[in-house]
Amino acid sequence: MERDKFSVLTRFLRYVKIYTTSEEEKEEIPSTPRQFDLARVLVQELKEMGVSDVNMDEHCIVVATIPATVDPNRAPSIPTICFIAHIDTSPEEPGENVQPRIIIYLGGSITFPGNPELVITPAEIQEIPVDMVGEELVTSDGTTLLGADDKAGIAEIMAAAAFLMDHPDYPHGIIKLVFTPDEEVGHSVDKVDVSNLSAAFGYTLDGDMLGVIEAECFNAASGVITIQGFNIHPGYAYGKMVNAIRILRDVISVFPDDIAPETMKDHDGYLHPAHIKGAVNEARLDFILRDFDHDKLQAKITTIKDGIAAVQQRWPRAKITVEFKDGYRNMKEIMDQNLRVIEIAEEAIKMAGVLPRHKAIRGGTDGARLCFMGLPCPNLFAGGMNFHSKKEFVPVSWMEKAVLMILNIIEIVAR
Ligand SMILES: [Zn+2]
Repeated sequence: MERDKFSVLTRFLRYVKIYTTSEEEKEEIPSTPRQFDLARVLVQELKEMGVSDVNMDEHCIVVATIPATVDPNRAPSIPTICFIAHIDTSPEEPGENVQPRIIIYLGGSITFPGNPELVITPAEIQEIPVDMVGEELVTSDGTTLLGADDKAGIAEIMAAAAFLMDHPDYPHGIIKLVFTPDEEVGHSVDKVDVSNLSAAFGYTLDGDMLGVIEAECFNAASGVITIQGFNIHPGYAYGKMVNAIRILRDVISVFPDDIAPETMKDHDGYLHPAHIKGAVNEARLDFILRDFDHDKLQAKITTIKDGIAAVQQRWPRAKITVEFKDGYRNMKEIMDQNLRVIEIAEEAIKMAGVLPRHKAIRGGTDGARLCFMGLPCPNLFAGGMNFHSKKEFVPVSWMEKAVLMILNIIEIVAR
């Protein structure tokens, strides 16, 4: 393959240098105005490619339409596809002044020029089930994250768009490109007008390893347990004090050690006490529950309810309440009714000479939310590894394969 055939590397290096870190707990979308800096670049570049229908709104959402190239009589029969990536990078690590560098991986560990303490060990590399030796990798200098999450996805979608605009004879239907802010703080699709996109289905380019397809995620619930005790001077407490801290100890034991995030993997869910706060007169515990299976999530809710009822019996003079809140849902519910959308991705990945790898997301995704907003939307690999870390890296050939995958999807749908 000729050097940077799709201009994906050049684009990627340009985008990661633009500071787009989002922030938690902001009312506004975007949470940080700097995300507009990249959004404006994307708008400009799309216009330079000749894409005429490009819009950026006040929430920093960029939507572009590449018109169909097939016979106008045939065009309406081809479903409109949407490709989505996010502009922001995670606030968990610094994302300003990113200094990308390119190395050829020849085995051993990977060190970083700006951060001698930081090392990617051979064992970490060997965990990746794809041979990395000889790969050209992009990393940061070790003082910041790289931002492959999700600027690799943006660069791949932009490179595919440039290819389509350069090849007007390449037959395809209507293609929508969507770039959103604030994914890392959970608000990327809040302001997306799904009905206005009029797409039949979409793909987020926000997965990690080469070949990954993610079409299922957790069902989520959360809750708060509050314990009302009774405080009195300890010297006069005999028979009177009700210590909420002691009751909290019993409440915590309702969360089994062997159904915890730290003891569960793959397709198993968990119960997770996430935060406690307490004094003698009052204590509270915040928790989350996760499971891929909806019924099993309900069973976990019952475990908590029954456990708390038992603690209440043990401490009749305290008042213990538990409240539950529903979170996101497993996109599998929707994807099972749209299996063709997954099959197309599988076929496109195989056409690119890559082995498709199905992965269940142990979390939620924006694609999952889009599924329940009416847009079936699995998540596909963008090629970056070690997300939200200074150890983030992306193999250049994986980004090229992702561009091929996008073009193959477009081709399969147009057939
Ligand atoms: Zn991401």
